[in-house]
Amino acid sequence: KDLTNFNNTLSNTVEKIKIYGDDSAKGNDILLSLVRNSELVGMLETVKQFEKRFNSKYHYDWYFMNDEDFDDVFIEVISEAVSGNAKFIKIPNEFWSYPEGIDQDRASTVREKSQQEHINYGGSESYRFMCRFNSGFFYKLEELKDIDYYWRIEPNVDFSCDIPYDVFQYMRNHNKKYAFNMALTEDERTIPTLWNATTDFFVENPKYIAKNNNLKFISDDNGKTYNLCHFWSNFEIASLDFYRGEKYNAYFDYLESKGGFFYERWGDAPVHTLAVSYMLSADEIFFVGNTGYFHHPNKDCPSDVVIRQKLHCNCNPGKDFTWHRWSCASKFFDVNNFVKPNTMTNIKY
Ligand code: GDP
Ligand code: MN
Repeated sequence: KDLTNFNNTLSNTVEKIKIYGDDSAKGNDILLSLVRNSELVGMLETVKQFEKRFNSKYHYDWYFMNDEDFDDVFIEVISEAVSGNAKFIKIPNEFWSYPEGIDQDRASTVREKSQQEHINYGGSESYRFMCRFNSGFFYKLEELKDIDYYWRIEPNVDFSCDIPYDVFQYMRNHNKKYAFNMALTEDERTIPTLWNATTDFFVENPKYIAKNNNLKFISDDNGKTYNLCHFWSNFEIASLDFYRGEKYNAYFDYLESKGGFFYERWGDAPVHTLAVSYMLSADEIFFVGNTGYFHHPNKDCPSDVVIRQKLHCNCNPGKDFTWHRWSCASKFFDVNNFVKPNTMTNIKY
C-alpha cells in the first residue's frame, strides 16, 4: 500500500514538474564555483555529473571564480562541458588578501600554532583568504551584480542521483532564501570567539534578528552557547539579495573588524549558518534532499529504495551521513517542527 501511495504521489509530482516546465519562475540564477587551475580534472568530473543529473535539463550559466587568471586549457575544457554559458572571473586582489588593521605577524604565529595542533588547514594562509572571500566578498563581484540565486558547487564532489525538478524555481516559488544539504558540527578550535562576536553583534542590533528564526538549530541552551551545528557550505543555494542586504553586510563588517578570519580560522560555513539562522525565518531555509551528494568524507544517499530507483541513484544508502546521529540535519527539522523529508513524497511542488 505504501508503495502504491508512493507511486501515486510520484506520478502526481512528475505531472506537476511537467506543468512547472513553463519556466514561469525562472530567474537570473547561476551555478558558481571557486576553483584553482590545478583542480581542472576534479572540476570537470563535477561539471559532467551535475550536467547529467540536473543542468542538461535547465542550462543554467556556470560562473567560475579564481584568485589567479584561469589558463586557456581550463577555460576551453570547462566551457565545452557546461550546457549553459561558462564565465570565468578573476577575483580582485582586495577580495583575497588582508584587510587593513590585521597584524600579520600575529596571524602568522596563529598559523604556526594551529598547524602544530593539527587543525584542518590551520597552517594555511590561502585557506583563510578563501574563507574570508566566501564570507564577505563573492557577492560583491561586479559579474554577480544582476544575479538572483547561486548554487555553489565545488570540484571533486559527486551528485549521484537525478535532480528531477528546478530547485531554483522551487525556491523562488516557495520563498526560500537559503538551501543546504549536509549539516555538521564545526571544530571548535577554529572558531573560539565567533559565537561571542556574533551574540555581541545581535545584542547591539536586535532589529536584525528574524522573528521566527532558526536559533534553536545553533544553540541548545537558549543562545548561551553554540552547539557547533552548521550547514556545510560546499553545497549551498542562496539568494544574493540576502548577502547584498544591509543586515548581512553589517554582520560581516563586524566580524571582519574582529580579525577572526586571521587570528583564528573562521570558516564561511559557520559564518553563513549563524547569519541565516539569526536573520532569516526558519521556513525560508530549505533542505535539498535526495541528490546523492558527496563531498569528502560525507555522503547523502536516499534510504528509500524506490526513490533510489526512480532517481537512478548510484550511491550506497548504508553510507548516508545526512540522517546519521552525528549529523545536524535532523535537528533542523526537530527544533522547527518541520516534517522530515525522508522520502520524495514530502516534497510539495
Ligand atoms: P574544504 O572543502 O574546506 O576542504 O576546502 P577546499 O579545498 O575544498 O576549498 C573550498 C573551495 O575553495 C573549493 O571549491 C576550492 O576549489 C576553492 N579554493 C580553495 N583554496 C583556493 C585557492 O587558493 N584558490 C582558488 N582559486 N580556489 C580555492
Ligand atoms: Mn571542499
